[in-house]
Amino acid sequence: MIADISTSLGTDYYLIEELLTDEERQIRDKVREFCDREIIPVMNDYWDRAEFPFEMIPKFAELGIAGTSIKGYGCPGMSHIAEGLVGAELARGDGSLNTFFGVHSGLAMGSIAILGSEEQKEKWLPQMARMEKIGAFALTEPDHGSDIVMLESSAVRDGDEYVLNAHKKWIGNASFADVIIVWARSAEDGEVKGFLVEKGSEGLSTRVQTGKMGKRAVWQAEVMLDNVRVPAENKLEHANSFKDTSKVLTATRYGVAWEGIGHAVACYEAALQYAKERKIFTRPLESYQLIQNKLANMLAEITHIQLLCFRLGQLFEEGKMTGGMASLAKMSVARKAKQVCADARDILGGNGVLLEYLVAKHLADMEIVYTYEGTDIVQSLIVGREITGVQAMAPSRKG
Ligand SMILES: Cc1cc2nc3c(=O)[nH]c(=O)nc-3n(C[C@H](O)[C@H](O)[C@H](O)COP(=O)(O)OP(=O)(O)OC[C@H]3O[C@@H](n4cnc5c(N)ncnc54)[C@H](O)[C@@H]3O)c2cc1C
Repeated sequence: MIADISTSLGTDYYLIEELLTDEERQIRDKVREFCDREIIPVMNDYWDRAEFPFEMIPKFAELGIAGTSIKGYGCPGMSHIAEGLVGAELARGDGSLNTFFGVHSGLAMGSIAILGSEEQKEKWLPQMARMEKIGAFALTEPDHGSDIVMLESSAVRDGDEYVLNAHKKWIGNASFADVIIVWARSAEDGEVKGFLVEKGSEGLSTRVQTGKMGKRAVWQAEVMLDNVRVPAENKLEHANSFKDTSKVLTATRYGVAWEGIGHAVACYEAALQYAKERKIFTRPLESYQLIQNKLANMLAEITHIQLLCFRLGQLFEEGKMTGGMASLAKMSVARKAKQVCADARDILGGNGVLLEYLVAKHLADMEIVYTYEGTDIVQSLIVGREITGVQAMAPSRKG
């Protein structure tokens, strides 16, 4: 039996809604409603002024979503699919706020949950879940991004302390975070380790980076650590090599993939609405074949990425998601979502570049999604390594 044609399916064209649990639907609806009411009406202005909306933090906290899929320690313990839906809805609302949330909840809380000791989890996760304490994740350096495995920040053990020296770049939330997860190379064994560095530590300073073309309402900072001393117990207990860091990145790349869905959906919705209202040669734009073709292609890409992320969420839940699988999703979604946003911007013509029509902001934010948490090329090389077993990231020494 074939169902009747429906014009009311929106962006859930293949009825993924029916595959969600009641709890997943409730979480998605709660976040969507929050974005429609609190976020979308105000964020253009913050974005334009490159201001971070600090007053949004208590409102976020009330939602009770920080820590998403982390079980225990006052965290919501939601499914990985619900976690993905949260990211998609927040990105549909505003990309900058989703990045703020992703850094705090995914990268910082995720590092503690995946690699921390019992004491570290007990100390930090409940306060971070209530968003009384905000986290940051300092991995990238001015001279090391894609080749971050070669990072130069150092950690030297001195009695019951570690002495940290580091220069980090692009660190979200760092200028006001209560705790920064700093990744540095240990002098003891030459491996990369993670350290909890608290706000106000002597020798710690930050400088907010300005002049960004996307994600303008969330702040990234350069972070300088000049002989910062942290107690030895601030080393993340299970962070003992870059392989451990990668466990966190795999989990957060899964989240970044869902983020792309949110940007694409927001742009498609705006383009469809515009095509209905805008008249060209006295007829609505939506009645032109070329526009319908574009809308159909956009919806096809959205449907592909939704199904990809939904299935990946199931695999994550079952403990079967590999690093390559997460990278394939991040790569593929970012490519497709960026194109959907660009097509929407085109459909809106000149208005497409105006902030008030939203698509320009989403397109600019998607440029950032395309790059951060590993560029398109880096994701493809992670997949390539998983397919072939050959590491092609760095040139061979002979070449
Ligand atoms: C807005 C924003 C927020 C961020 N937030 C954080 C954060 O909170 N914490 C954090 O630690 N980092 C953060 N980052 C850093 C981000 O993860 C890096 O920018 C990203 O990994 C790319 O590194 P890079 O900028 O040094 O680019 P590069 O590594 O210099 O890449 C330059 C180009 O080289 C290409 N390339 C890389 N390797 C290869 C290869 N093997 N073969 C061919 N081409 C290659 C890349 O694809 C790219 O096109 C953020 C970045 C941005 C822009």
